[in-house]
Amino acid sequence: MILRMKRGVSAPAVQKIRARIEGEGLRVFQSTETQRSILAVVDKVPATLSKELTELPEVEEASQPKAAWRLIAREFRDSMTHIKLGKVEIGPETVVVIAGPCSVEGKELMEDAARSVVNAGAHILRGGAFKPRTSPYAFQGFGVEGLRQLKDAGDKFGLPVLTEIMDAADVPAFLDHDIDCLQIGARNMQNFRLLKAVAQAGKAVVLKRGLSATVEEWLYAAEYLAAGGCQGIILCERGIRTFETATRNTLDLTVLPLLAEMTHLPVIADPSHAAGIARLVAPLSRASLAAGAAGVAVEVHPRPSEARSDGPQALLPAELTALVADARVQAAVSGRRLA
Ligand code: PEP
Ligand code: MN
Repeated sequence: MILRMKRGVSAPAVQKIRARIEGEGLRVFQSTETQRSILAVVDKVPATLSKELTELPEVEEASQPKAAWRLIAREFRDSMTHIKLGKVEIGPETVVVIAGPCSVEGKELMEDAARSVVNAGAHILRGGAFKPRTSPYAFQGFGVEGLRQLKDAGDKFGLPVLTEIMDAADVPAFLDHDIDCLQIGARNMQNFRLLKAVAQAGKAVVLKRGLSATVEEWLYAAEYLAAGGCQGIILCERGIRTFETATRNTLDLTVLPLLAEMTHLPVIADPSHAAGIARLVAPLSRASLAAGAAGVAVEVHPRPSEARSDGPQALLPAELTALVADARVQAAVSGRRLA
């Protein structure tokens, strides 16, 4: 149940209502709205209590969303979520471009990549240190050493960094290296212990859609993060598995306008992993931004043919520059600006 208070209802009055609900053994969360308080009761509310709460003079509106996610539901916020990573703003007014190599492959490579990201005008540096690879014989990433190389390159060029975490036990290493934004990869979208551990890290999180996850499953995974205390959740559509084999995955553009109705969270798109083919990345990026994505995450490599993973989908630095220029135009067309 979601209870929207009237504007101006005092904090002690809201506290009293919370206490009444919690007194029945139900869990309550409060939104971070400044204009008004919104409470979400995440447990099932008995009919008599529901009636009592609905009729309170402080309550403007009580709703019972059909799905059991609460904290990420559009109804839980008056406004869409804004997330700040350093100077980078992610939200409804901006378009963010996250870019970097698939894997962190060494100090020099990472610096080259970071230079091309900053020169292109992109905002956040990505690179995988812990790589979820289909084959156990494929390059698995440099692990903690990769975190260090990524963070050093980010610091050198003034870029916040994003990288994937695969194991809850690695959270301390990500915190030690001051990783700005943790990625939950597609293959771990429903790793619930990982979601709970990452939620408590106090960092922004990019939650990629599972390879075959429905919107509902994806949103429940995001709710795990929110319920665990994560304040900076970004959803990322990265292509889903369909009958089509001409591309690596199928970018599901449909979810971009759909999720804007269902959740207050920003949603970005990853056309690189969706297409698996570098020349398709720019048009898919444009389409994603036109469909309302809050940004895109793309892979770039100074020498794609030498990349240790995902070379065929990596942009060249000059292609990234063109993509960011195009994102600026797309942002302007929709009344937004680059992050
Ligand atoms: C990645 O971003 O490096 C990655 C492995 O993506 P996904 O989890 O979407 O496959
Ligand atoms: Mn990749």
